[in-house]
Amino acid sequence: MLGDHCAAPADRVLLGQPPKTGLHCKMVFRAVSKVLRKSKAKPNGKKPGAEEKKVYLEPEHARSRIADFAFKELVVLPREIDLHEWLASNTTTFFHHINLQYSTISEFCTGETCQTMAVCNTQYYWYDERGKKVKCTAPQYVDFVMSSVQKLVTDEDVFPTKYGREFPSSFESLVKKICRFLFHVLGHIYWAHFKETLALELHGHLNTLYVHFILFAREFNLLDPKETAVMDDLTEVLCGGPGGAGGGGPGAQNHVKER
Ligand SMILES: [Zn+2]
Repeated sequence: MLGDHCAAPADRVLLGQPPKTGLHCKMVFRAVSKVLRKSKAKPNGKKPGAEEKKVYLEPEHARSRIADFAFKELVVLPREIDLHEWLASNTTTFFHHINLQYSTISEFCTGETCQTMAVCNTQYYWYDERGKKVKCTAPQYVDFVMSSVQKLVTDEDVFPTKYGREFPSSFESLVKKICRFLFHVLGHIYWAHFKETLALELHGHLNTLYVHFILFAREFNLLDPKETAVMDDLTEVLCGGPGGAGGGGPGAQNHVKER
C-alpha cells in the first residue's frame, strides 16, 4: 500500500532499525528537522497545544489518500480462501507497513521528545513476559512491539507457512494482540508525529494505511472498541464511524467471535 517513497523491501524492515534510506531521504529528514525544531515536545513528552488542536483532523489533511480503494470490499474474506490464511497474510502485511510508516518518523521519536508512549490522553505501558509493567519511552515501546510481533509472525508454530501445518488454537487471540499493538503505534504516529509526517508528505500513506487497517480489524472483530475509542474522532473522519459508509458497522460480516 505504501509507495516506494523512502521504502525498503519488507525483509529489510527489521526491528528497531529503520530501513536504510537513500541520500535523498536523509536530506528530507534534515530539512524536516530544521522546520520542526520549534515544535519540539515539552519535557513531559506532551506536544504543546496538541490537546487543543489535532492537525490530523483538518479536512485538507484527512482527505489525503494515496489511492481511492474500496477498502470495505477489499477486506472481506475472499471465497475459497481460508480465514486463518487471510488473517495471517493481512496481519503480516500491516505489520510491515506500519513498521515502515513508523520508520519514516523514527528519527523524531526519541526518549527526549516522547518520554512516554502517549496517544491523546492515553498512556501505554509495556508488560514483559512475566506480566511485569515496564516503564518505557515511546521509541522503546515501539521497539518492544515490533520485536514481539516479528517474533510471532516468523514463528512457524503461530504463523505456519509450510504445507500441512495447522494454525494453533490461540491464533485468533494472538492476531488480536498484534492488532492492538499495531494500533498503538499508528495512534502514536498521528498524535505525536503528524507534523513530521505532513512535512514528509506521507500523510496520504498514513491515512490510507489507517483506513485499511481499521476496516480490516472491524470486519473480523480484531480490535476492542474500548481500545480504539482514543482515536474515534479520526476514525469517524476517515472511515465514517462505526455505522458509516466507509465502515463495517453492525451489519458487517464478522467472522471472528469475541473470546
Ligand atoms: Zn514519538
